[in-house]
Amino acid sequence: MTKIAFIGLGNMGGGMCANLVKAGHTLAAFDLNADAVKAVAAKGARAAASVADAVKDAEVVVSMLPAGKHVLSVHFGPDGVKDHAPRGTLLIDCSTIAVTDAREAHVQADLSGFIMVDAPVSGGVAAAEAGTLTFMAGGTAKAFEKAEPILKGMGKNIFHAGGAGNGQAAKIANNMLLGISMIGTCEAFNLAEKLGLDAETFFRISSVSSGQCWSMTSYCPAPGPVPSSPANRDYAPGFAVAMMLKDLHLAADAARSAGAEIRLGEHAESIYQSLADRGLAGLDFSGVMKDVKGEIPRS
Ligand code: NAD
Repeated sequence: MTKIAFIGLGNMGGGMCANLVKAGHTLAAFDLNADAVKAVAAKGARAAASVADAVKDAEVVVSMLPAGKHVLSVHFGPDGVKDHAPRGTLLIDCSTIAVTDAREAHVQADLSGFIMVDAPVSGGVAAAEAGTLTFMAGGTAKAFEKAEPILKGMGKNIFHAGGAGNGQAAKIANNMLLGISMIGTCEAFNLAEKLGLDAETFFRISSVSSGQCWSMTSYCPAPGPVPSSPANRDYAPGFAVAMMLKDLHLAADAARSAGAEIRLGEHAESIYQSLADRGLAGLDFSGVMKDVKGEIPRS
């Protein structure tokens, strides 16, 4: 089994780290938050005192951090992974970060004699805990081959999306589509209701017709049809507006640098931004339903 250092034990990383222990690997875990370290130590990981302590004899380093600046500084900043992990160590970054930051990390890893895979995830905290995440990985075929058995300990569907940064590219394109389709689903339910159909009736029809999508069938923004969806608990997250907004900002930045037109992506970004501006960044992103229905004051 593999010696793994895990850095970033928050909402997602905590469950992922625990699943790697369950899969039989030897884990050394570090987070700036001592309580997060304690929680995974109780599940069988070694509590490391620093990044240096976590990675000193690692064969693989997995990171799950908030944003690109954290990933670059933890790995390649002063006293980071680069300074303390053995050469040849495989670095797997599962955070959602800019494609450009991910590609920069691959370059730095190459220059320092490491192997790198960017492997962001689809699926939230429940999937991280259950070990059912989807991973989309970018890197060489050889790096992916080494990363795949580790990723299998934390996820169900593992994809090689291509070269450096392609995991992040797949992730933000997917999440931009999700952000757009959720708003469209809310507008369709609201329109149907205003024209006289209740949510259950519209769901029965549309969920097997051409408007069917994940936002409707797995995460329905109208209360009722899908009992597990946040709509049935007043839009408590789930996947918060702030997280959707983060991914839409990343998609918009990437689209600008790639010269790709994303008119609906930008419109979706402005709709979620306006929710955040009105103090609702913590609402589940399907709570855009409340806005579509005019239940949230516009200014
Ligand atoms: P989180 O804020 O709960 O966890 C991040 C952890 O990183 C925190 O515990 C923080 O203390 C730690 N950290 C920050 N800087 C550090 C450093 N320098 N050294 C060590 N630890 C450090 O965030 P999360 O919800 O777990 O999300 C992590 C990543 O996963 C993000 O990139 C996010 O976009 C992505 N993601 C989240 C979800 C979700 O539903 N929460 C779903 C898919 C992807």
